[in-house]
Amino acid sequence: MTQARLAHRLQHLGTTVFAEMSALAVRTKSVNLGQGFPDSDGPDEIIESAVAALRSGRNQYAPGIGIPELRAAVADHQSRFYDQRFDPGSEVLITTGATEAIAASLLALIEPGDEVVALEPYYDSYAAGIAMAGGIRVPVTLRAPDFRLDTDALRTAITARTRALLINSPHNPTGTVLDDTELRCIAGLANEHDLLVITDEVYEHLTFDGHAHLPLASYDGMRDRTVTISSAGKTFSFTGWKVGWVCASAALVAAVNTAKQFLTFTSGAPLQPAVADALALPDDYFVEFRNTLQAKRDRLCSGLRELGFQVYVPQGTYFVTTDIRPLGFEDGVEFCLGLPERAGVVAIPHQVFYDHTDVGRPLVRWAFCKRDQVIDEALSRLRVGLRAR
Ligand code: PMP
Ligand code: GLN
Repeated sequence: MTQARLAHRLQHLGTTVFAEMSALAVRTKSVNLGQGFPDSDGPDEIIESAVAALRSGRNQYAPGIGIPELRAAVADHQSRFYDQRFDPGSEVLITTGATEAIAASLLALIEPGDEVVALEPYYDSYAAGIAMAGGIRVPVTLRAPDFRLDTDALRTAITARTRALLINSPHNPTGTVLDDTELRCIAGLANEHDLLVITDEVYEHLTFDGHAHLPLASYDGMRDRTVTISSAGKTFSFTGWKVGWVCASAALVAAVNTAKQFLTFTSGAPLQPAVADALALPDDYFVEFRNTLQAKRDRLCSGLRELGFQVYVPQGTYFVTTDIRPLGFEDGVEFCLGLPERAGVVAIPHQVFYDHTDVGRPLVRWAFCKRDQVIDEALSRLRVGLRAR
């Protein structure tokens, strides 16, 4: 009998923490502040666009690079918000979520043995994508309390074997929005060492307190060495649609598409026109969405602070990070595994996003992209469960 033997390069990947913790939430009927997905759908009119597309026969394969309306809408979005110019014919590629864009970029651009420098804690698909490409992950750690980029550490992490920087801003899980000085430094080093930059900007519209998202590709010398990745999931509250995109030079888009065409070829044909409509929503939509989410952030942060956690207020994303030590806990994994039973709440331990696991050990991530009553229910359960300790 043939044994199912996982390839060596994937052996350390296990099951994603998000799948594991969401299953735990369902099993224990816990309030799920773990996996980052909103519990209300995005705009009705965008759902109606998808319904109309389903009913008007847009149900066969879309072009591998994405439908023209959506590629044009992505190019228009980059121009409208960032004054960037991408040719929708050759410099925009539609993908199955940002996840496929990240994997395809790494598979297309990384040789086995190449080093890829990524910000730690890193979103889990980065480790998997780098491993699948045969690359070597080199972390640069963002540390509490501010989780800013240590530019000296970044400089030191770059070696003769570095092929690419994999950047994420706004950053999951810390909520850091990289500022102009940090982005300038990244751009300077990329130019100096002739590096590719893959930048994951899925939380581009989820920034708070006036912190603006600044796209790395706009910096001097970055236009043609940067693969910019985003998706509709976060911006429009349709995380299940899995429509993402890449903006880059024609040469980089062609390279990424070489891998992408054999991963999925194409997906989401009737969702693509709906996402094109979503990208064209008026500015009010984006402002209102950000304000609503900021209020949820504040609601969860103040509740967690009252409970005694050390709270690191995020500048962006869906997530707030806390240190659990003021409550007498030491280990985030232990804490999160015990939390459903103790309080009926699920959260995500930071530790799984680190190579330097000790740094992440006391940190726990909570998602606030939930209805207010769900946030309140989680907080009241925590109030009871943590007191009973
Ligand atoms: N990058 C980051 C930083 C994320 O948090 C997520 C989670 N959605 C993704 C990429 C994946 O995006 P998508 O669902 O569009 O594949
Ligand atoms: N991006 C989501 C998070 O960080 C999870 C997406 C997934 O489950 N892969 O929670």
